[in-house]
This record gives sequence, structure tokens and C-alpha cells, in this order.
Amino acid sequence: MTTLVFLEHHEGAIQKGSLGVLSRAAALGGDVAGVVVGSGVADLAASAGSYGASTIYVVDDPAFESPLPQPRVDALEAVVSHSGAENVLFGASVLAADVAAGLAARLDAGLNWDVTDFSLDGGALVAKRPALGDTVLVDVGWTSTPRLALVRSGAFDPVETGGAAASVESVAVTPQDFSTAARMVEQAHEETSGPSIEDAEVIVAGGRGLGSPDGFKLAEDLAAALGGAVAATRAVVDAGWYPYAAQVGQTGKSVSPKLYIALGISGAIQHKVGMQNSGAIVAINKDANAPIFDFADFGVVGDLNQIAPKLAELVRARKA
Ligand SMILES: Cc1cc2nc3c(=O)[nH]c(=O)nc-3n(C[C@H](O)[C@H](O)[C@H](O)COP(=O)(O)OP(=O)(O)OC[C@H]3O[C@@H](n4cnc5c(N)ncnc54)[C@H](O)[C@@H]3O)c2cc1C
Repeated sequence: MTTLVFLEHHEGAIQKGSLGVLSRAAALGGDVAGVVVGSGVADLAASAGSYGASTIYVVDDPAFESPLPQPRVDALEAVVSHSGAENVLFGASVLAADVAAGLAARLDAGLNWDVTDFSLDGGALVAKRPALGDTVLVDVGWTSTPRLALVRSGAFDPVETGGAAASVESVAVTPQDFSTAARMVEQAHEETSGPSIEDAEVIVAGGRGLGSPDGFKLAEDLAAALGGAVAATRAVVDAGWYPYAAQVGQTGKSVSPKLYIALGISGAIQHKVGMQNSGAIVAINKDANAPIFDFADFGVVGDLNQIAPKLAELVRARKA
């Protein structure tokens, strides 16, 4: 079985989600390779060599400088053909979803979406994905090769194998004329300080219990004290209290920090599916019957307006 993993990168770093998918693919066995597409990315490709791949293919050309999907479809088509990959895996992101969909159309291949895990069944790749509003996990397969899959963000952590570094192999690709018709005019970056919720080891998440957009200052203050990031439930994102980029759950991001502190979050199933893989879950909620206490590791029943500032103060005092 040969597997190719799309290694997405931004600002000089390969995305944690891509490396997590590469690590999971390597753990399954077979011949696993990664592919880095961009301009001036040879060193970046080498940096991905310790996560269990035998080869990192690099398509390095100024034509791939902008993070546009369509030229990447050309690059992946060429690398799939060159490597004979039977499986092509992507860590979910806006760019990866576009590239995966484009590649599926180009290769007339099947793409399974929202995958949370893989296994081998008699040598055949089988994926798991949530269904029925994330209440059940179902097995999904493919009827042809290459098998394409987009993996939910945060599903796997990157694991360095400590084995031999992958060899880096260049593949020359010239994008199709129609793939270069779109040009990136401007790219805006979200202004954030501290880690993103995908990368953070500590997340302080806020729900409707924060009471108002201003209530998020409590979550931000506690996150700053802990060196973490702020996340939110859909209820508060829909209400315009916090940006969508911070939403965790079924229709948001999946995260797996070491510590997840939930402030005023009821623990609906659609939220739970996005954060249940966190190391330790701490819930602060004034309702002792809130569902979040059914799966939290530590629960505090009380008013977050009293508890969160005190906690931030104690963390700061301890750090000092
Ligand atoms: C198809 C679909 C997809 C969805 N996708 C998502 C998703 O991706 N992510 C997501 O989060 N939700 C999602 N939802 C919504 C989800 O069902 C819940 O409605 C939402 O998670 C609730 O958000 P909440 O916990 O902030 O609010 P609530 O459920 O209103 O909970 C607020 C909590 O705050 C507590 N509280 C209030 N005041 C205080 C206080 N002073 N101190 C302490 N505690 C206090 C209350 O006891 C309560 O438990 C989805 C729903 C559907 C139908």
C-alpha cells in the first residue's frame, strides 16, 4: 500500500494537522510519502522527514508561491502518477479541502470527507467518519484507487519516529494554463497573539455563560495567564460574540490540547465532538446538571465570573 500525504505549509512551517495525518499513515504501515508544494520549500520538505515517511516529494517552483488550490491539483496529479500512490490523504483546512476536491475531480477518484481515523481491513483501507449529527461513527471505504480522504483537523498529533530521515525527491511540474488563470491579489491574516487553537496546548473556551461579548475578556485573561488560546461555542459565534475561526465542534474545528477549560459551556454533543480528545477537560458551570460534567475530568459548580478571574490570578502568582 502506498500512501501520499499532502503537507500544507504556511509562513515557513508545515501545518500540525498535516504532520498528524502523516504520523497516523506511517503507523498504519506500507510505503508512506509526503508532498510539499511551494516556492523555496526544499528546506521545509526536509523538516518533515522525521514523521515516518520514506520519501518527501517536493514540487518547488515560483509558479506555486501563492497558496492557491488549482496549481496544487496539477502538482498532486503529477506526484500521484510518479509515486503510484493508492491513498492520498489531507489534513482538513480551507486550502486542503479545495485541493482534495479538485484532485478527486481530476482523477475521477472517490473522496471521503470528515474522516476521524483509519484502519486496515484485510489489507484494504477503511476510514471512520461521524454521521447522524456526530452521534455515531461509521466505516467508509472506496470502490476505486486512488482513495482520497480529508481528515478532520486535530484528529491526530504529529509523532516523530526517531527513525531514519526521509529522502527528499524533487518532482518538476508545470501548472496547466487554466490553473494559473486565478491570481492571488491580497492575503489577509487574522490578527492574533499567542498560539492558534489548532496548535495550543491549553485552550480556554467560552460559551453563552460568559453572558456577553465583553465576557470573553475573562476567557482571554485566563488564556493569557496560561499561555493558551481562546475558543468558543457555536452559540456565541452565531450571536457574533466571537469569530468563527475560534469555533470548536461539529461545524467548527476539532482540537486536542493538553488542557481544555470550558467556561459557561453546557456540553452539547455538537461541541463535545470537537474537544473530547483533549488531555484534561475542566468545566466551570453554575448548573450541576450541565451535560459537560458527564465527560469533564474536573468540574467546578459555580459562577464563572467569580472563579475565572481568581484562577487567572492564582496562575499568574504561581508563574511569578
Ligand atoms: C447541526 C448542528 C451543528 C452544531 N455545531 C456546533 C459546533 O460546531 N460547536 C458548538 O459549540 N455547538 C454546535 N451546535 C450547537 C450546540 O447544539 C449547542 O447549542 C451549543 O454548543 C451551546 O453553546 P453553549 O454551551 O455556549 O450555550 P448553552 O447551551 O446555552 O450553555 C450555556 C451554559 O452556561 C452556563 N452558565 C450560564 N451562566 C453561567 C455563569 N455565570 N457561570 C457558570 N456557568 C454559567 C449554563 O448553566 C449553561 O450550561 C450545533 C448544533 C447543530 C444543530
